[in-house]
Amino acid sequence: MYDISRRNLILSSAAAAAVFGLDRGVAFLGTAHAQTAMEQGFYRYKVGAIEITALSDGIWEKAHDPAFIKNVSVDETKAALAAAGLTTDFVPVPFTPNLVKTGGQVILIDTGTGGQTGGPKAGVFMKNLAAAGVDPASVNHIVISHFHPDHIFGLMTKTPENKVVFPNAVVHVPAIEYRFWMDPAGIEKLPEARRPLARRVQEMFPLMKYKVQPCDGDKEVVPVIRPIAAPGHTPGHTAFHVSSGSDQLIVLGDVTNIPALFVRNPGWQAAFDQDTPTAEATRRKLLNRVVADKTMVTGYHFPFPAAGRIVKDGASYAFALA
Ligand SMILES: [Zn+2]
Repeated sequence: MYDISRRNLILSSAAAAAVFGLDRGVAFLGTAHAQTAMEQGFYRYKVGAIEITALSDGIWEKAHDPAFIKNVSVDETKAALAAAGLTTDFVPVPFTPNLVKTGGQVILIDTGTGGQTGGPKAGVFMKNLAAAGVDPASVNHIVISHFHPDHIFGLMTKTPENKVVFPNAVVHVPAIEYRFWMDPAGIEKLPEARRPLARRVQEMFPLMKYKVQPCDGDKEVVPVIRPIAAPGHTPGHTAFHVSSGSDQLIVLGDVTNIPALFVRNPGWQAAFDQDTPTAEATRRKLLNRVVADKTMVTGYHFPFPAAGRIVKDGASYAFALA
């Protein structure tokens, strides 16, 4: 059974009753530990014998924009934020890379914004990594979900310095994603707004060439971490299955952006999703899987510390912090 005092959740009365035995119309369950974790910037928990550290890279206070969700108005977006107890002044989009420690390996899953995207309140990852007592030189593997700037710009300092931030890490990238963004002929085929990213990817990765490792299929990338193809958000977007004995965590990456909008409404079409129908199909498939298996999840843009469970709520879903 769920421990109510440690959950932060908005549900309809039916789902709240099913999960918690509550009879309130909307349950907003505060989490003292989430607030404390946010203040310290990192949060450690265990998946079996594996130690996970959620590391905040801050938050993007994204201005409302009618183009953000293709099939939904700004007013509907604000109503969904308000229903989740969030501000309606902007869309709060947090960034949370995770560090995995297992069997002497130090593995980072996604790297944050590098302070190069996401606005003035993002870019605190390195400070929080230090606060968690982790030396960047100790990271020996980096696993990347996809090549959007908020996930990969932490790999390297800004151009023209272009200094590798994790000097001893092998960088594991989804092979489909790598091929897509690295195709020199592909830049011209992209929408105008995406071309600078493709140029930056094509500048960055050759500078790390000796340590970039494309990975294909569902073979373990590093011990305990297995890729799950999750296309749509980008062509090679990949989720990860982390397991230790019978304990599991699914790292959703950007299968859904913030839960208050896109877990509650999996049919809402974020402009960030490159292939909208595929992204929605992937989202529904993975949400159904983690509900059925009761698997713990973490989402890159979920409220810090970004780890918890998905529950079914009628035709919809909700996220509950662990
Ligand atoms: Zn993202």
